[in-house]
Amino acid sequence: MKAMTAMTATQARKARERGQRAAGAVVGSAVGDALGAPFEFGPPGAFSARFPVPGSGGEMCGGGGWDAGEATDDTQMAVLAGESLVERGGLDPADLFARFQRWAAAEPKDIGLQTEDVLTNGLPWDRAAAEHFRVTGRAAGNGSLMRASTSAVRFARDRRAATMDAARRLSALTHGDPAAGEGVAVLHELVRAALDGGDPLAALPEALRSVRPDSRERYAAVLAPGWHPDRATEFNGAVWPCLGSAVWALRTTGSFEDALRAAVDTGGDTDTVAAVTGTLAGARYGLDAIPARWTAPLRVPLPGSGGRVLRVADLIGLARRLAG
Ligand SMILES: [Mg+2]
Repeated sequence: MKAMTAMTATQARKARERGQRAAGAVVGSAVGDALGAPFEFGPPGAFSARFPVPGSGGEMCGGGGWDAGEATDDTQMAVLAGESLVERGGLDPADLFARFQRWAAAEPKDIGLQTEDVLTNGLPWDRAAAEHFRVTGRAAGNGSLMRASTSAVRFARDRRAATMDAARRLSALTHGDPAAGEGVAVLHELVRAALDGGDPLAALPEALRSVRPDSRERYAAVLAPGWHPDRATEFNGAVWPCLGSAVWALRTTGSFEDALRAAVDTGGDTDTVAAVTGTLAGARYGLDAIPARWTAPLRVPLPGSGGRVLRVADLIGLARRLAG
């Protein structure tokens, strides 16, 4: 009886920690998005030039058309994906595509060029992205990676192959280039490892072995321990340097706050690099590690959803439902 009680207490603690990490991934991504948005397309180092002393406050500053704490399309699409996964009891691609289309039609403040093309080209969900890729030959932006916090939490309860495959299917809704899906698959797997209580970086070699052979070399390069965002061969709006920069930010820092500072400081597509970093760092360190001064002002408007605006408590609730 005594042993059983002890086991139950351990299980309860583990479940609580898993819930903390799941909420950390979803809230962390939104925080990164809102933190990085005012610095989008700026030079490297702009964030720490403006906020040189970590922890001194005011970092959720707004600007560039964004209110302080306002999340962008990265988080808006992550929430749409998460709500579809919860309400449909799993991946229903036609339902999610329709939600994305309603959102795109309601004129969000920002939307990726490629995502907008695919959601408005009039083709059905199972042809729109593939056709876009066939015509343009370019579809490896970070637009499917940026919205993966919620799906990563939802599929973390499954095994490696299942969560990576779900990532590929979710990515393919808007990104016809399989290379984009491989990046989302790696992110899903790292979040799965973190929610299980492990070090996401320790899961990298196995994740890489599960990447499609034709994408493996390029991901191995940007995910290698010695890689630095300076070594990117393309703008970080592309999926490879975006994921590489997020993993680099996690690897080279020791806290949620420092990881996010490093992410925004990479410059360029700062909201998305920081959203992906926030997914990883939130899953690694848990909700409690995210500064309250960053979560308090957070707000996620959802164009096309009846004027709803989500706050941090709503995101925590969504994460709990996704974690199951
Ligand atoms: Mg954005």
